[in-house]
Formats: sequence, C-alpha cells, structure tokens
Amino acid sequence: MKKSAQKARIRTFIIANWKMNPATHVDAKKLATKSKSLGKGLKKTTLVACPPFPFLSDVVAPHTKGYAYGAQDVSLHASGSHTGDVAASQIVSLKASYVIVGHSERRAKGESDVEVATKVRVALSVGLTPIVCVGERERDDEARYLLTLREQIHASLEGVSPRDFGKIIIAYEPVWAIGGDTANTPDDTVETILFIRKTLMELTSEKTALSIPMLYGGSVDDTNAAGFLAKDEINGLLIGRASRDPKKLARIIEASEKRNSQIKKTKIR
Ligand code: PEP
Repeated sequence: MKKSAQKARIRTFIIANWKMNPATHVDAKKLATKSKSLGKGLKKTTLVACPPFPFLSDVVAPHTKGYAYGAQDVSLHASGSHTGDVAASQIVSLKASYVIVGHSERRAKGESDVEVATKVRVALSVGLTPIVCVGERERDDEARYLLTLREQIHASLEGVSPRDFGKIIIAYEPVWAIGGDTANTPDDTVETILFIRKTLMELTSEKTALSIPMLYGGSVDDTNAAGFLAKDEINGLLIGRASRDPKKLARIIEASEKRNSQIKKTKIR
C-alpha cells in the first residue's frame, strides 16, 4: 500500500441526542445511568450523551475513551445578560466535551448559518468539540442539493481557522431523513460524505479534512445502524429517538464495536 493511501484508525462516535426528552428528572437519571453503563469498557466506540440542559449534570461521569457527554446547543455569547442562554464556559464547567451546533431543528427555528458559525467558534474557544450538523432539506434529481450543502458548509464554518478544523466533527443529517421512518441509504450517505470532505478541503488542508470524523444522522435505529457502520467512510452516527431506548442503543453500540473503523484516503471526485 502506498504511504498516501495508508489508513488511520479512528474511533466510532455514537452521539445520543435526547432532544427535549425525557419528560422528568427521574426518567433522565435512569437514562443517564444506563448510558454511562453502556459506555463502560468500549474499545472502538465513544458514546456521547447529549441531554437537555436541565439534565446535563446527570450525565456527568469521569472521562473514559468509551463515554463522554455534551450539550445540544450553546449561546452565541460568551457572557452577559442573555436570559435563557447557556454559555459555552458553563457547559465546560461540567467537564462536558461536546456540543451539537446547527441542528436542523434549531435552524428551522430561525438559526442562521452566521449564528451557527459563531457558535462553532465560541465552542472551539473554550475547548468544546462542536458537532456541526449540515444537511439538505430535500433532494432533487439534478443534484442541486449538493451546491446548497456546499454553501451551507462554507457559511456554517466561516471564520474557523484552518487549524481548528481538526477539532470539529461533522454530522451529515439530511433534514428529510430526521424524525421520520426513512433513513438515507448507506451508499448515498457515502457519496455525500465524500462530497462534504471535498468541500472541507476548500477550507482546510487535505490532511486535516481527511481527519475530520464524518457522522450520519437521520432515522437510524438498531435495525439499520450496522448498514451505515459497515462503511469505512462513515465514522459514526448521530441518533435521536433510538438513543433514548437503552435496548436499541445497546444493539447499535454492539454493531459499532464489531466494525473495523478506519479513515482512509478515499477517492474524492
Ligand atoms: C437527530 O436528532 O438529529 C436525529 C437524527 O433524530 P432521529 O434519529 O430521531 O431521526
């Protein structure tokens, strides 16, 4: 194998986005306990629990390779009078490592690409790893959605220094696949992920772009997770509904542990 085509091993990320669930603190504590135990001793996978803010302290646990936690959003502002906002530094004060930024459900409420980019920079400035969500609203036969995706990526990462690209995670989440019953296909996902990597090479070095973990999200559960995880190009999954069902989550993690995860120099068209 040529040096340039050598493969680098990378952990598989399973991001559990609890969204606005569960309804009570009692249930949140139960889910947090299950999540922590699922994260114990994982060899190839990092499970990242992302509960709503009121339950963030429940998922706190010592850092291990298998388990981490983060928030679902972050304030645009570092400090000041912003009622209802939660600052990046407050998230870090709980020793959280990750924050989801630009989720389509926040974009649907009016969050702009400019705001997403600001949040990415704010997160990076305090050492949080932003999990930046990008994805098209709908597909068209002429593949114009790829151009929209490219614009969204450029705008959502505006002002991020090329060096800092090595500290982000990208979650490709086609909006039409989130919260429904039809996921994208693994093959289509690979195609789009290659396109996203190519786009990232316009913003940072090839080496850094190739090191960025690329996740898929959108109606993943225990029945289809293995299909995505069978693809080398997909470095993990962002999971909504199924992540709140410990049995489904356990099966997804099992599939992740069984895979032979690698980042490789894939042909980029
Ligand atoms: C999500 O919350 O980003 C998501 C992918 O949700 P679901 O898995 O429920 O489609």
